[in-house]
Amino acid sequence: MYLPGVGPKKAETLLKEIHVVSWEDMLYYFPYKYIDRSKIFKIREIDGNMPFIQLKGKIRGFEQVGEKSSRRLTAAFYDDTGSIELVWFRMLKQIPDMYKPGVEYILFGKPTLFGHRFTVAHPELETENKFYEGEVGIQGQYNTTERMKNAFLHSRALQKIIVRILEKTPSPLPETLNGEIMDTVRVISLDEAIRNIHFPKSADWLRKAQYRLKFEELFYLQLHILQVTKYREKRLGGWRFERVGDFFNHFYSHHLPFELTNAQKRVVREIRKDTNTGKQMNRLLQGDVGSGKTLVALLSLLLALDNGFQGAIMAPTEILATQHYETIGRLVAGLGIEVALLTGSTRKKQRETMLPNIQNGEIQILIGTHALIEDTVTFKNLGLVVVDEQHRFGVAQRAKLWKKNRIPPHVLVMTATPIPRTLAMTLYGDLDVSVIDELPPGRKPVKTFHMYSEKRKNLYESVRKQLQEGRQVYIVYPLIEESETMDLKNLTEGFEIIREIYPEYKVGMVHGKMKAADKEAEMQKFVSGETQIMVATTVIEVGVNVPNATVMIIENAERFGLSQLHQLRGRVGRGADQSLCILLTRYELSENTRRRMAIMTETNDGFVIAEEDLKLRGPGDIDGTQQSGITLDLKIADLARDGQIVSLARDVAYNILNEDPLLEKPKNKLMKLQLDKLNRQRQMGWFMIS
Ligand code: ADP
Ligand code: MG
Repeated sequence: MYLPGVGPKKAETLLKEIHVVSWEDMLYYFPYKYIDRSKIFKIREIDGNMPFIQLKGKIRGFEQVGEKSSRRLTAAFYDDTGSIELVWFRMLKQIPDMYKPGVEYILFGKPTLFGHRFTVAHPELETENKFYEGEVGIQGQYNTTERMKNAFLHSRALQKIIVRILEKTPSPLPETLNGEIMDTVRVISLDEAIRNIHFPKSADWLRKAQYRLKFEELFYLQLHILQVTKYREKRLGGWRFERVGDFFNHFYSHHLPFELTNAQKRVVREIRKDTNTGKQMNRLLQGDVGSGKTLVALLSLLLALDNGFQGAIMAPTEILATQHYETIGRLVAGLGIEVALLTGSTRKKQRETMLPNIQNGEIQILIGTHALIEDTVTFKNLGLVVVDEQHRFGVAQRAKLWKKNRIPPHVLVMTATPIPRTLAMTLYGDLDVSVIDELPPGRKPVKTFHMYSEKRKNLYESVRKQLQEGRQVYIVYPLIEESETMDLKNLTEGFEIIREIYPEYKVGMVHGKMKAADKEAEMQKFVSGETQIMVATTVIEVGVNVPNATVMIIENAERFGLSQLHQLRGRVGRGADQSLCILLTRYELSENTRRRMAIMTETNDGFVIAEEDLKLRGPGDIDGTQQSGITLDLKIADLARDGQIVSLARDVAYNILNEDPLLEKPKNKLMKLQLDKLNRQRQMGWFMIS
């Protein structure tokens, strides 16, 4: 489609980088922040709770400080009322050439208190004349990628395109909510909202525009989710697991290595009920790391077997699949159950003998990676699929499983990412949720300490004691894309240092840039105890079980989000011995980071941590570079912050569907059209089930 002032080359860039094809797409590409160009603050006026603000002043004295990963560039910024500190973590070489001391700049950024001093990280600085070119009032800023900037599609250019579109489109823009809803929830019209989200008449209009657009987005999301749920309830029949038979009973009475926790029992009951309704089960099982999800999975699989079906477990990595295979093989030994492992590295020959046995039903439990959903794998009668560590599996892959049978298998998705319940309802509105909220008895909670990097000498000595007792140790480094080369260097340097400190022990290393096979091999050495220390990036985050590993050291812990720290910590504390987790950070930390470290040392409860994580995460937080993994492609609403709008949208959507399930009434026609349109668009595909 033709966009005013956009040639074919720019159009292609817009499509590739931000999926903008039409005028409408462009109008729905909202600013990610706003600058109030009407107000310039004095440094003296700054307090700790300010959003992004403008200051006017000069720069003095660039200086590089810190070592290695904490290396950064600082400078003072002052006006006639005081001074603050500017800090950069990237482009340390280029920055001093870009700005001249003594020249007056307009600074834009968010001040944060470090110790006694206000700091602005990665400020935007512009000379005054450049800045005033036609900009007054509240100005939207648009996110752009490197490629877009190279094609001269920076924030200002996008703004100009939007101005032209708004001039040329008929006014008012067609409404997407009917009058009844607009009255009930008191929102402004779409036309007013779109115009004000891009060019706010005032702060008040901006708020109204945001509210309207957030509501609209969440409302259609809820409408969609609720409809899918209803559809599933109505249409998708499922296998009936009517009996609890010998496999389940025999295992339960004679092979259980320990008494199930009450939470495990409850979840098994929920699953039993679910699989006997004649409808397909779609259940999300949330349980903190170490809560014993594997056993629940196995019991569910035995239920499938008792009813004459096959079962499968799908894991995100080979190492996890292999671990499941070994664990489950051990647990069901002697029950006469055929268990097989199928992964990317299964030999061709072995594969060829395995495939017919999957097809004829001889193999009863198949465990594996993505390899399971390849088209060549056909089952005789797949009754239940367990998907482990769900956040690495897309919904599309789940959907592919549906096609393996005439009747879809029951699906149990297991995740250790603790998602607050309200959020889970929105994210996984299409799934029923079970929670294991209790750890097996006798677990010693991991003791967590926060230490400054400079004091690491003592740490190495206490770690040696653990090693001498035969324990194993993880040392984790951050790795983010922006500073990849630097990070890799830190990792390999860290690896060398550790080897020097502990010459008597074997040290392994894994990171995401290694070939999958090498990674697996290195991991396997650690699992088998051949290596005692594992230096790694977050690739070890998910699922591996090495009960003998009792120490987790996290380097540059300030660069991890709360959920990720918790996830990493979950790698230790899996055996009977007391485990330790040490968070190493630099000395100077933002308030937010201090809080994160404090929460980690105070609690082991994944749900508490998840809630705190949602509260603490905020835009523009430079510490929060590695986020929690809860992502959803929303344009304007924020599930963590807009909880009230979420429930409002849910209520309104629920009432409408209750009265008119298929949106057939004339007054709902508008919404039906809009929903169909959104469903056709890509971003909603995320939620599609079948
Ligand atoms: P996760 O939920 O993280 O996948 P696992 O299923 O790997 O946890 O279980 C962690 C450990 O706890 C395993 O070693 C397992 O044998 C043990 N475990 C599971 N359930 C119980 C229980 N009810 N009592 C004691 N130990 C248990
Ligand atoms: Mg697990």
